[in-house]
Amino acid sequence: MPHVRRLPFVGTALLLVWLALACRPAQELPQAPRVVTSIPPLAMLAREVRGNAEAVNSFLPPGANPHQFEPRPSDVRRAGQASVIVHIGLGFDDWVLPLMQEVEGDLKSVIRCSDHVKLMPLTSVEALEEVNPDPAHGKAWDPHFWLDPEAAAGIGVQLAEVLGQQDSARANDYRARADDFSMRMAQLDADLSHQLKALRGTRFIATHAGWAYFARRYGLEQVAVVELAPGREPGPRSLARLMELARRENVQAIFSEVQLSDGSARVLASELNLPVIVLDPLGGAGVPGRESLEDLLRWNAQRIQDALQKDALQKDALQKDALQKETE
Ligand SMILES: [Zn+2]
Repeated sequence: MPHVRRLPFVGTALLLVWLALACRPAQELPQAPRVVTSIPPLAMLAREVRGNAEAVNSFLPPGANPHQFEPRPSDVRRAGQASVIVHIGLGFDDWVLPLMQEVEGDLKSVIRCSDHVKLMPLTSVEALEEVNPDPAHGKAWDPHFWLDPEAAAGIGVQLAEVLGQQDSARANDYRARADDFSMRMAQLDADLSHQLKALRGTRFIATHAGWAYFARRYGLEQVAVVELAPGREPGPRSLARLMELARRENVQAIFSEVQLSDGSARVLASELNLPVIVLDPLGGAGVPGRESLEDLLRWNAQRIQDALQKDALQKDALQKDALQKETE
């Protein structure tokens, strides 16, 4: 009965095929979606949802300033490989627009994140030139919303939707990853709220208008911005005005950024006897401790906490010294 004798062989062959498929490294079809983002934090977020780090890139390299970026020929190539481009909008990263035009035919989707986020107006009129005023509201909107975990989670959900449309076989995977990312962002948010609780009410001046969303979330307040526009240092008159404002508003720190020159911030800080806290709103692949959005936000919260606590202790000690000298 050859029919019966063949069955085990067929079974074994099927098992081998199944094993070969199951043990194969998770290879993707060549047309699987590739994501290119304008800035590193959006790439971090996209990697979480896409689930394959190699399928995600950022135009802006780590350490570069998004406000002064000039796309390179390699960026045109990168845009050509993208099936989704994710960018901020509001004039923040308009340098992606010509790149998108260049590859118009091949690009399937564009996510302009500012369309999917509850926007805040810019803190300071000094920084108005950073973004386009919204003619409907007569306000300029702040583009630095990726530093708010809730906004980041919302962008993740939007990306999962777009990836699912392009790659319906894995739509559920993308959705599940976006849900998981949202949950971790909510946990991070709770952790940071707890960590920065004692610092609620802290008022600061930022070298650059980067921290309003983060500040609102954790009860800090960005009362003014040093730069007149990204990369434009203030003159003596603006500095004098900022100093007066800092004294009047009881400002406790100056926030600077690793990507920026902070000459004016240092001048202000030494005049006012305030700490300069050097933060990093961007991080990026290969930047130690700042390669995921979660780590980037934790890193910044820790810098703020350490610097403000150290400053409070120092000022306390100075005050005690002064009191002691008075009573002697
Ligand atoms: Zn900025």
